[in-house]
Amino acid sequence: MSGFFLKELAARINLKLTVNIFEPRDFSRTGPPGCNMCAGVVSEELVQTLAAEGINLPEMVVQRGIDTYFLHTSGLEPVDIAIPDVGMRIATVYRGGGPRLSPEGVQWSSFDGFLLELAKSKGVNHIPQRVTGLSWHKDRPRVSCKGHADEDYDLVIGAMGVNSASLKLFEELGFSYQAPPVSKGYLSEIYLGVEKTRKYFGMGSMHIFLLEIPGLKFAALIPKTENITVCLLGEDINREIVQQFFAAPEVRACFPPDWDGIGDVCRCMPKLNLGLAKNPYGNRVVMVGDCAISRLYKDGIGAAYITAKAAAVTAVFLGVHRDDFHNYYRPVVQRMDRDNHVGEMIFYITTFYQRLSLLRMGMVRMIAMEKRVSPQSRDMSRVLWDTFTGSAPYWEIFLRCFHPRFVYRLVTSTLYSLPRYLRGRMKNLQEKKGQVA
Ligand SMILES: Cc1cc2nc3c(=O)[nH]c(=O)nc-3n(C[C@H](O)[C@H](O)[C@H](O)COP(=O)(O)OP(=O)(O)OC[C@H]3O[C@@H](n4cnc5c(N)ncnc54)[C@H](O)[C@@H]3O)c2cc1C
Repeated sequence: MSGFFLKELAARINLKLTVNIFEPRDFSRTGPPGCNMCAGVVSEELVQTLAAEGINLPEMVVQRGIDTYFLHTSGLEPVDIAIPDVGMRIATVYRGGGPRLSPEGVQWSSFDGFLLELAKSKGVNHIPQRVTGLSWHKDRPRVSCKGHADEDYDLVIGAMGVNSASLKLFEELGFSYQAPPVSKGYLSEIYLGVEKTRKYFGMGSMHIFLLEIPGLKFAALIPKTENITVCLLGEDINREIVQQFFAAPEVRACFPPDWDGIGDVCRCMPKLNLGLAKNPYGNRVVMVGDCAISRLYKDGIGAAYITAKAAAVTAVFLGVHRDDFHNYYRPVVQRMDRDNHVGEMIFYITTFYQRLSLLRMGMVRMIAMEKRVSPQSRDMSRVLWDTFTGSAPYWEIFLRCFHPRFVYRLVTSTLYSLPRYLRGRMKNLQEKKGQVA
């Protein structure tokens, strides 16, 4: 996106710029070669913001209109929650050519491919090569790649995410950059075919899970025409967590009864940004997207958009010196970092809801009761939706949780759930006693 913005902004002040994008991926290919490993959920707000920038995502690229979600919690019936506000809807994309193993063929076009073509239409040159070397020539960064003569640039923007070994090139360039902390996520695409996807998942619903699985912060099933995208995020998702997730009765109940488990699907365990990189800028060099910062457990595409635009605005209107990035780019990145710290607190609190069934019961009851009130005052539904999709900053969500109405409803719902909780505990104890006897 930085290439697009550089050209777009430079044109506004009649500045002639040559912009080269190095991108080795062929986004028209299905499976890993064309994929940037992401669940592909984007908020409606981002789709609208892009439209305001003149980036209108065609229907083949973005499938809009997920406006309901089912919340599945361990041991409880799922609750469906309709999104009250169109602006809070989410849309879905495939970053590359789509998953491998789709017998009907993928009926989508690549989001990243679309953005690359858009940048090219603005006059950006695409060099389909991996950058293999970075060095300094006098005071300008020099870029090396296979099949091309080395070139010196006025500015190098690092936008290679966190899954690339090339981050080392920037760490060794001498501006004290250090890649951000990361963890591992899990993604898979489960092919069900158009009919079964529609029958078991519907097209306008996403399934979010708050399960009692340690280490799992967020889990979702996202239907995409003929496939179900499975996304698991946490501090370090491993095979055991993946197996526990697929074995959970709440997950199996979503799939057709004859579904044979994970089976032969397109899957990966990509790295996930968990914080701010050290020194994400220097003289004539700036890092954007995941390799600088992202939003904790959500909206990485939105974060990449914000940082790419801020870096391009700085470079075109202020300059490419370290001080320019310090004065304009740093506050943007720091704002996101501060918000992520609030997000950490929210996810910490969420772990109590994962572990304690009484709290879960209270939360689910509060959601069920909210169906009776006006859409605008469905506090818990909105808090959960925003936490998991990125439709609002974490600080805003956090403040909403301290609103007297929210606290009152949550406390009363939890107290109302107490008898049912105690009955359940007694039943469990009696069953255990029976087994011992
Ligand atoms: C499991 C999982 C699920 C996610 N789901 C979502 C989601 O639903 N919605 C969302 O908004 N975010 C999601 N994210 C986060 C999102 O994927 C990232 O935040 C986003 O992709 C960051 O964009 P980026 O451009 O910084 O990096 P990337 O998307 O990783 O792109 C980096 C690009 O750099 C290229 N590159 C790498 N090395 C070189 C090199 N040496 N030379 C030239 N090019 C190079 C790569 O080919 C690639 O195209 C998810 C992340 C994970 C791990």
